[in-house]
Parts: sequence; C-alpha cells; structure tokens
Amino acid sequence: AATQNQRLTIAVQKSGRLSEQSIKLLKACGIKFNLHEARLLAHSQNQPIDLLRVRDDDIPGLVMDGVVDLGFVGENVLEETRLERVATGINADYKALRPLEFGQCRLSIAVPKEDSYQCLTDLNGKRIATTYPYLLQNYLKQQGIQASTAVLTGSVEVAPRAGLADAICDLVSTGATLEANGLQEKDVIFTSQAQLIQRPEALSPAKQALVDQLLPRLDGVQLAKESKYIMLHAPKAALQQVATLLPGAEDPTILPLSHNEQMVAVHAVSTETLFWETMEELKAIGCSSILVLPIEKMMG
Ligand code: ATP
Ligand code: MG
Repeated sequence: AATQNQRLTIAVQKSGRLSEQSIKLLKACGIKFNLHEARLLAHSQNQPIDLLRVRDDDIPGLVMDGVVDLGFVGENVLEETRLERVATGINADYKALRPLEFGQCRLSIAVPKEDSYQCLTDLNGKRIATTYPYLLQNYLKQQGIQASTAVLTGSVEVAPRAGLADAICDLVSTGATLEANGLQEKDVIFTSQAQLIQRPEALSPAKQALVDQLLPRLDGVQLAKESKYIMLHAPKAALQQVATLLPGAEDPTILPLSHNEQMVAVHAVSTETLFWETMEELKAIGCSSILVLPIEKMMG
C-alpha cells in the first residue's frame, strides 16, 4: 500500500469543486507539485509527499482503510461514508485534523414549489430522492419521520418532475439549481465544509514529522487569509479612539513621523475586515494615509 513507503500520501479530489482549493492550500504550505492531467499519482518536487487524485467519494474509505495517510474531503461525503461503514460493520475511524473553510454547502430537503408542505411530518410515507441515503435516514430517524429513499448518484433535482420522488435531499450552496427546477428548500439537515483527515493508525515518525510541519503552516495560511495589515497616520491625541476603531488589532506599532510632531504612524495586524465605514470614521477623527494590505503568511 501507498502507506508502506516513506512518502506521505495525500488523497485529493481529481477534478471537481474541491480540487483547486485543496492543491492551492498545499502550495501555500510550501508543497510543490507538477500535476499531469492524466496521472493518478503526483510526486512533490520538494517534499517526500505524494498526491493521489481520485473521486471524492473514495477519499474517506481510502483514509479509514489506511491506504493513504491524509485526505481532503467534504464533511458530507465523510459523514455519509462513516454512517454507511458503521451500518455495514466496516472500520469507520479517522482523525479529523482541520476544517478548511472552503467547499461550504448544506444538505437540504426540498419540495416542489406548488407542494402544500407545512412541516417535516408531511414527509411521512413519502419518497425522497438523494445521493446521501445514510445522512438522510439518520436525520429522519432522529426526527421520527418514516419516508422511503430513492438513491440517485446524479440529477437528483429532476426526480420530482420525473415522478421518481415527492421530495429531494441534495447539496445546496446558492439555491440556484433548486430555483431552476421549481423546488423550494425546506430543511437543512447537514452543513458541510472541506476537512483534512488522517488515517486512524499512527504514522511512521518520518511521516508524523511531515504532518507536524504541515499543520502549523496550514493554520498560518488560514489565519493570514482572515487578517489584514493596517497602516495609517493618526493624531497623537486620537490614539485611544483609533485603538477602539481598529477591529481585532492587538498591540499596534506606533512610530514617529519625521516632519510632524502631532501625528504618528500606526501599524497593526487586524484579524477582521476593515470596512469602508470604519476607514471613514478614522478619517473623521483626523487620520490620513489609511492603507489596508493583504497578508500572505503568518507565524506566531
Ligand atoms: P467526483 O467526480 O469527485 O465524485 P462530485 O461530482 O461528486 O465529484 P463535486 O460536485 O465536485 O463532486 O463536489 C465535491 C464536494 O464539494 C461536495 O461533496 C461538497 O462537499 C462540496 N460542495 C460545495 N458546494 C457544493 C454545491 N453547490 N454542490 C455540490 N457540492 C458542493
Ligand atoms: Mg463524488
């Protein structure tokens, strides 16, 4: 198996909604890959790391079986696989390393717009089309609803119109697909984002060392994404007000200006977005040259 060699093997979706951002995140962590469209396996040029590019549905199982060391996968697919494996008595353990703040979506129940649906109990005795039968049945059981499922691997949104089901349970991000098919979102049964997961058994020391290096880098990339570097000139007399206006900025650096006794330069890292409104307020209390810069990487 790939895990027997000394290179850390990471499974990523080959082509789909999670592929680009998974690879981008690894790149931002300093791991370089030369990807060839046709190749299943890609070797990193600068680290003992291999990428295995597969369908997203296969990733949780590959990690749980220890065929790969790490995997990037949507929590929806992860939880569906876990429930299915638990139900069929197959090992479903894994280590959750980090939520990744991309691939956000929700798994929702939707019904045709003209349907008289009032609440969940209206689904009793109905048929619901879905790609996620275990997540759906798990939810229905919790809610005390008895409905049957029609499992479809694609085009779930056309099932009611085709007479295959009364309702659907499908992934939603903007709701445009539901709208286009005359469906109305009713109940969110699961919210999801991408996760980085690890196989359940311990890694070799060499591989563990790679993971121990990767995780702080990942945190640094995530933190940098949410943070801004703010520079401005402020009247010395207004420094207190400036501090209260700058969101999430700890210990700003205060520097003298060469030809101005009344003003100082303030540099601060802010963990929140600086809105136009705040910049206008800063200007109103006498600040000038207000700059907001993106941060690429951070390490505490
Ligand atoms: P594969 O060929 O790898 O099986 P797929 O068609 O199953 O691809 P994609 O449509 O690429 O999968 O979606 C992958 C994951 O992206 C989903 O499982 C989900 O976690 C996430 N995702 C984010 N937004 C959406 C959305 N609007 N619709 C579907 N999936 C979404
Ligand atoms: Mg899939």
